[in-house]
Amino acid sequence: MTEKSKPTDGQHYWESVRTLGFALPKCMDCEHFHFYLRPACPSCGGLNLVPTITSGRGQVYSFSIVHRAPSASFAQEVPYVVAIIATNEGPHLMTRLVNVAPDKVTIGMPVVVKDWRTQGDPPTHLSNGIAPPLFEPAAV
Ligand SMILES: [Zn+2]
Repeated sequence: MTEKSKPTDGQHYWESVRTLGFALPKCMDCEHFHFYLRPACPSCGGLNLVPTITSGRGQVYSFSIVHRAPSASFAQEVPYVVAIIATNEGPHLMTRLVNVAPDKVTIGMPVVVKDWRTQGDPPTHLSNGIAPPLFEPAAV
C-alpha cells in the first residue's frame, strides 16, 4: 500500500479524522471533495487524496422518520430521523439528525455536525472521535 492510497482505507481514514476533525476526502489535483471513500477522485481520476477538515455544515437533502426500531438496541430511540445531508463542500452523506423533534425537520434545514472539530475550531479542540458524525440543526 502506498501513502497516496491510504485515504481510501477506511480504518486509516477514520483514525485520521479522530484527531483532524470532521474531514472528507479531497483531491489535491482538482480540489474536489467526495464521500464515500474511493480509490481515485471521481472528478478527475487523481490519486492524491487527503482527508481535509471541513466546515461541518450543510443542509437536509432528504430524510425519513424511523418509527419502528430495527433492533432492541434502538427501542428507546424511536422515533428518530435518518437524513441525507448535503455538506457545504458538496458530498452527501447519510446520518442521523439529532436534537430536533422529527416533525420539525424540513428539506433544506441548515445543520451542523455534532461533537466534531470543524474549520472554525482551534487545533487544540480535538474531536471526540467516538461517535459517527451525527448532525443537529444549526443555530441561525
Ligand atoms: Zn480530482
